[in-house]
Amino acid sequence: MVPSSRFRTENLPMDTDLPTTCVIVGGGPAGMIAGLLLARAGIEVVVLEKHRDFLRDFRGDTIHPATQDLLAEMGLLDDFLALPHADMPRVRMSWWGQDLTLADFTHLRTRRKVMTFMPQGDFLDLLADAGAREPQFRLIRRAEVVGLIQEDGRVAGVRASTPTGELSVRARLVIAADGRDSAVRDATGLIPVGGAAAMDVLWFRRLFYTSPSPPDRQKSRSLPFFSVGEGLVIAIDRNEFLQIAHVIPAGSWRGETRDLAAMRTRVAAIAPSLTPAVGALEVGDMRLLRVRIQRLRRWFVPGLLCIGDAAHAMSPAGGVGINLAIQDAVAAVRLLAPALRRGTPSVADLRRVQQRRMFPTRVIQGTQRAMQRFLLTSPRPRRMPLTLRMLARFPVLTRLTGRLIGVGPRPEHLDG
Ligand SMILES: Cc1cc2nc3c(=O)[nH]c(=O)nc-3n(C[C@H](O)[C@H](O)[C@H](O)COP(=O)(O)OP(=O)(O)OC[C@H]3O[C@@H](n4cnc5c(N)ncnc54)[C@H](O)[C@@H]3O)c2cc1C
Repeated sequence: MVPSSRFRTENLPMDTDLPTTCVIVGGGPAGMIAGLLLARAGIEVVVLEKHRDFLRDFRGDTIHPATQDLLAEMGLLDDFLALPHADMPRVRMSWWGQDLTLADFTHLRTRRKVMTFMPQGDFLDLLADAGAREPQFRLIRRAEVVGLIQEDGRVAGVRASTPTGELSVRARLVIAADGRDSAVRDATGLIPVGGAAAMDVLWFRRLFYTSPSPPDRQKSRSLPFFSVGEGLVIAIDRNEFLQIAHVIPAGSWRGETRDLAAMRTRVAAIAPSLTPAVGALEVGDMRLLRVRIQRLRRWFVPGLLCIGDAAHAMSPAGGVGINLAIQDAVAAVRLLAPALRRGTPSVADLRRVQQRRMFPTRVIQGTQRAMQRFLLTSPRPRRMPLTLRMLARFPVLTRLTGRLIGVGPRPEHLDG
């Protein structure tokens, strides 16, 4: 059996010049899926990841029904389900104490009709282990890409800084999957349009243990629950603890003591049962996520393609960033693998990937913009916005929202 990739790649000798067919910058969901699928398609691939492991601050860990279908197509669903996880058949929320369902996944035509929560690190480790079984796959950690190699008017590779010196990786194609602050994208001169969203998210670093007496567990044990009032509180029930986030108007958190006091008051109004827990929080227990909704007009330059958050930073609303990033990766591999086998993908090949993925990006980002309007601003205090009233009145509509969130507008499959 191949040893876990967690340990396998750490002590590789560092070549100073490493030729390959495709180099991927970033071992997040987009980069790892793209790397694994390219390797399985017989294409030599190097994934460069700046961190030594996948353990980071919380950054989302929802694996959608459509992504689970893809895992099944990749033969990884059983391994995935063997890891600790929590399933959510419906997204529920509470509007000033009135419970309603936002999205229902139980009627989807997917193999699993649930959204599954799994720490992103565990999920990426699973992909790294699968990659380690492929002879064409190489993951190099602690390799931070610091520059591009340009030749004959195209990107021909990347330069990375590693603990043992500089590494140059030349390739027929560079895939930038290095996230929303993509340095590789910036080095190409591609500039995303859009910008800061109307909301920021405060993640509570401290976890609220739910045993023996959970502070606010719902009777149905549905996960997560949202509470909307003077802002929004999201509590994701992770079995042993609650992971809590507070959505606030953009720019309203400056990390001062009075911000903390105001936050405690708001959370107490929105989710009263969290009052004692939130009362114990300090400024240092908060992590601010500045939400951005932006995307590139053009996702490529000759020799380089951006996918995932590097091409389109998403709001966390709906928890769709991982799903979308993975679907970009699947489409990119399906559309580019034949060209990579033949030689260097042309600009027209790269454009096809953008054309395929721009539509779902636009639809989801448009929905996220609309969602943040009603999440943060209510026309009259406590009056439920029309969208929510419709969902409460016609529960069948929650199947549509379930489809939009759980599958998305253009789900990808390995064979098209
Ligand atoms: C606080 C928070 C909560 C979120 N919640 C959710 C959620 O619930 N559900 C959801 O679906 N999405 C959520 N998201 C968004 C989600 O995390 C992203 O959309 C998704 O991870 C994008 O995947 P990606 O592979 O494109 O980029 P990323 O996951 O950002 O991965 C980029 C990778 O590139 C590496 N990297 C960066 N620069 C370099 C470099 N120069 N050289 C080498 N490597 C580099 C990084 O270390 C990272 O591993 C959340 C995000 C945040 C920040």
